[in-house]
Amino acid sequence: MTIPELPLRVAIVGSGPSGFYAAEALQKAVPGVKIDLFDRLPTPFGLVRGGVAPDHPKIKSVTRIFERIATHPGFRFIGNVRIGTDAMPADLSRHYDAVIYAVGAETDRHLDIPGESLPGSHAATELVGWYNGHPDYCDAHFDLATSAAAVVGLGNVAMDVTRVLAADPKEFEATDLAFSALTALRGSRLKTVHVIGRRGPVQAAFTTPELRELGELEQVDVIVDRRDLELDPVSADYLANSGDRNVEKNLELLRSWAGRGATGRPRQIIFHFNASPLAIIGNERVEELLLARNALVPDGRGSVRAEPTDEVSAIKVGLVFRSVGYRGVPIVGLPFDQRSGVIPNTDGRVVEHEGSHTYLPGVYVCGWIKRGPSGVIGTNKTCAAQTVDHLLADAISHRIPTASGNPDELVTLLAANGARVTSWADWQRLDAAEIARGAQGGRPREKLVRIQEMLATLDQSP
Ligand code: NAP
Repeated sequence: MTIPELPLRVAIVGSGPSGFYAAEALQKAVPGVKIDLFDRLPTPFGLVRGGVAPDHPKIKSVTRIFERIATHPGFRFIGNVRIGTDAMPADLSRHYDAVIYAVGAETDRHLDIPGESLPGSHAATELVGWYNGHPDYCDAHFDLATSAAAVVGLGNVAMDVTRVLAADPKEFEATDLAFSALTALRGSRLKTVHVIGRRGPVQAAFTTPELRELGELEQVDVIVDRRDLELDPVSADYLANSGDRNVEKNLELLRSWAGRGATGRPRQIIFHFNASPLAIIGNERVEELLLARNALVPDGRGSVRAEPTDEVSAIKVGLVFRSVGYRGVPIVGLPFDQRSGVIPNTDGRVVEHEGSHTYLPGVYVCGWIKRGPSGVIGTNKTCAAQTVDHLLADAISHRIPTASGNPDELVTLLAANGARVTSWADWQRLDAAEIARGAQGGRPREKLVRIQEMLATLDQSP
């Protein structure tokens, strides 16, 4: 669908993959569209900058597509502005014909077990933010003087975190892993990383390339208990009949590790399938993780759920990272569904509350805040396209109100209120500064990790 004559001014909030893909879909359909892409940070790219692992540069190279989207004549980046604080959703709706919220899932899910708030118990997302130089986590501290850590969860975030904790830091020297984190990892005394999954290998959410990377770490033995690879009838049936190549390949890898056992390498990654954390134990900080052995029972929907048995064990750890999923956070002035952690919507059109059929005119969502935290970067392209299709259908049929103000008034207002807004040209200067800092140490970039540092860099450079 191409609608060249539609005069459309759209605000997109959040400059991660779903925000950029929404911009691209709009630009393709409405060449004259005017887009302002807001971000709470002075820098763009969301989880591509702050979430994707530093040793996955190919995945990060999607930013080249985003850079091309940013060259479109009607495109502006408006960084360092938090919607819900610096400007409200109602302000955006007043100044733009339509607003798309693409704010992702900023926080994480909890285990809800005793001891979870002890020092040494962290969200995996804190570690991810820290090693990726995200300003929210640049001052985070993790006790890497301990000899053992546990990572709870079997998703790809758990794989990233396990790999970063277990790897020889030399493996990250030629990446953009934050310099302060690299320094801390060089001093790490961790010898063992336990990976805890409540269900079995057939139900694991990780994908084979991410699992395989653990076995490629030079200094690390990956330990798998053969007992965990004996499948319950439902899992065996799934393996035999689903044709799920990811699961088949995962099992091949796990079986090869179970057959090899420990070979005396200095560090170990130990998988514990069918095990749920019961409590984190410690006097003043994390000392042990109490685990229940689970039985896998049919859930009546073709899969299995984990049920704790009486078999309980404890592992000595000084750090616990919960990696059991991200979660969206509410934005003041917009509805939010606490149960699912998303902004309630029907295929991208925001509704008044979960289950409602009443749309908020001109208000849309895409990405993780629309559908929850799942899928790879490319998943957001289809997701954003669906939202944009609905936005355009609404615009054509006059179901979105025409803005009473215009975007420039809002930008002027933000500046008048003291906001130090960053532009795309500012980002390009920050980008160049980071690349130049990195080049001195033979690295692709050295990130600026504090907002003040970024703004000072902009103030200093011409
Ligand atoms: P995820 O894939 O949803 O995995 C969450 C894991 O947490 C699952 O193993 C889940 O087990 C487990 N879990 C949930 N609640 C639990 C509880 N109370 N106790 C124990 N375990 C629990 O989430 P994610 O790892 O945060 O990843 C988010 C998305 O980003 C995914 O789509 C992922 O593929 C993607 N991602 C991709 C890459 C990459 O492509 N390299 C890297 C990072 C992230 P159950 O299955 O039993 O619920």
